[in-house]
Amino acid sequence: MSILHLRNGRVICPTQSLNEVTDLWLNGPTVGGFGTPPRAAHIIDCTGMIVTPGLIDMHVHLREPGREEDETIASGTAAAVAGGVTSVACMPNTEPALDTRDAAEFCILQAQRAGHCNVFPIGAVTKKREGKELAEIGKLVAGGAVAFTDDGAPVASAEIMRRALEYCRMFDKAVLVHAEILELTTGGVMNEGEVSVRLGLRGMPGVAEDIMIYRDIVLAELTGGKVHILHVSTAGGVDLIRQGRAKGIRVSGEACPHHFIFTDDKLSTFDSNYKMSPPLRTRKDVDAILAGLADDTLTVLATDHAPHAAEKKAKELDQTPNGIVGLETFLPACITHLIEPGVLSWPQMIAKMTTGPAGVLGIDRGTLTPGAVADVTVIDPKTAWTVDAAKFKSKSRNTPWHGATMTGRAVLTIVGGEIKYDLRGV
Ligand SMILES: [Zn+2]
Ligand SMILES: [Zn+2]
Repeated sequence: MSILHLRNGRVICPTQSLNEVTDLWLNGPTVGGFGTPPRAAHIIDCTGMIVTPGLIDMHVHLREPGREEDETIASGTAAAVAGGVTSVACMPNTEPALDTRDAAEFCILQAQRAGHCNVFPIGAVTKKREGKELAEIGKLVAGGAVAFTDDGAPVASAEIMRRALEYCRMFDKAVLVHAEILELTTGGVMNEGEVSVRLGLRGMPGVAEDIMIYRDIVLAELTGGKVHILHVSTAGGVDLIRQGRAKGIRVSGEACPHHFIFTDDKLSTFDSNYKMSPPLRTRKDVDAILAGLADDTLTVLATDHAPHAAEKKAKELDQTPNGIVGLETFLPACITHLIEPGVLSWPQMIAKMTTGPAGVLGIDRGTLTPGAVADVTVIDPKTAWTVDAAKFKSKSRNTPWHGATMTGRAVLTIVGGEIKYDLRGV
């Protein structure tokens, strides 16, 4: 078994409360231990670098099958490792929807064929994501599904949501919530507020999100099920999750970089790279998300990586699809906007990219404990660089950060003990 010796990096492992300069060695596909390895090894000097468990992005749209012009499992996972991400959980809003055991197994097989990173499929809550009838949850679990959601759309029926929580509880799987009361958002292209009035654009009120977050937290309390609120964008939502957690309800929440970096006045440019669902909100909401990250109300950072081919995003705002790509800007955006201004410490931020999502999904990743799978990310925390979307491994380029200067990035991505991305060699 070949040994990889990562020498003299600052190793951060939240599960072991580790944050110190030391050596880490990998014994083939598993973590060997700390300090000097027992025999000769391939040495990589990590002086000045941060060495962490491989990052997990639990909110990724890979588009395959059905929309391979936007992304494939191969291109999306190549983008992941280029961003320092070793595991992605992929959303089921493919065409057809990921609502069968076969579909889950196909997804895992395609990821293995591509050979970039781990893919954990998320199953649809309802058949065809139509919100009418529960999908075959048990069979999906048998096929490898790690959680359930109809993301892209909410589960509109409270009754279906209640049964989904009851059913998923039997398998100890979380239901991931895209919180949106559609009656309140139909036709909207941005947040409802002063800016939407000024621009004459149809708005989506924040309460459309808050109402469903409240509904699903009380349903989690009723059923004992586990809910995870995807892409929290409102101050009200952060408060509801904080209150729910204080009461011991099994609710967790996630923040995406665009929701804590931008506000809705970005829509003044009419640039579709600022159109997403839920939409960019106000300064008050951004501040509440940052506070929620700082006090650990929100335990997960994720991208909502949503690739769309250029011609789709080039349309008028009311016709263009929601969302942006995120995998290759995830870590730098978080370093630049959470670490640099002092919102989070490094161990806090890494926890939200490793143990946080691993806990929600119940997967055996996100740790450098000896014997664990050797998924490792090596980060240059200080390098300043300019985002060039033309260099993305993703098939799509819909990013608001093209040309932006960011601080820090992954320089080495190791999956199962194998180097899958190495910026030092580029
Ligand atoms: Zn969503
Ligand atoms: Zn999504």
